[in-house]
Amino acid sequence: MVKQDLHIHTTYSANDSAVVPEQTVALVAAVKHAAIVGISDHFDSLVDGYFEAYEREIRQAGLKVGVEVDGHAWVAEAADYNVDYYIFHCRDQDADYHSLDRLLACGKPVIIAHPNALGTNLNRVPAECLIEINNRYVWRTDWKQFYSPFKGHFKFVISSDAHQPHWLGQAVAYYAAKQLGIQEHIVF
Ligand SMILES: [Zn+2]
Ligand SMILES: [Zn+2]
Repeated sequence: MVKQDLHIHTTYSANDSAVVPEQTVALVAAVKHAAIVGISDHFDSLVDGYFEAYEREIRQAGLKVGVEVDGHAWVAEAADYNVDYYIFHCRDQDADYHSLDRLLACGKPVIIAHPNALGTNLNRVPAECLIEINNRYVWRTDWKQFYSPFKGHFKFVISSDAHQPHWLGQAVAYYAAKQLGIQEHIVF
């Protein structure tokens, strides 16, 4: 069992074609591949009246409630929701970096999603943010070159970004973290 996994999608990410119908909150809770499990569906899929059922189902399953926020345009609205933490798509643009201050002001953990895949400039990210090493994306770029300069600057979390039941694992991300000499920060 891994220590924590806070980046997991379910069928609530209705417009994400990678999610399969079997990827339900109930199945993720039953598999329980991590000691601490959080669900983080796309916030833009939850705003049209789906959030209440989403939150209730996740809390009843004993899991943490997160959302994945797609950039600055969604931050003001996301700040009003009763989540335990945020996962944030920070593209390399001023508005996304600036909106991180607003999100941090909520006083909840903010995890920068797969920064190597989005071209996030970690020099512009506040040190209070947690940086993700993402099992789905970490291997797709030169992760040693990307993450090494920031080893002492941030806390890091390891995530699966699972969209399907057999993605509930973190082997590649753990390998990368170990090679980098990064110890995972346990959030909850
Ligand atoms: Zn993402
Ligand atoms: Zn995701």
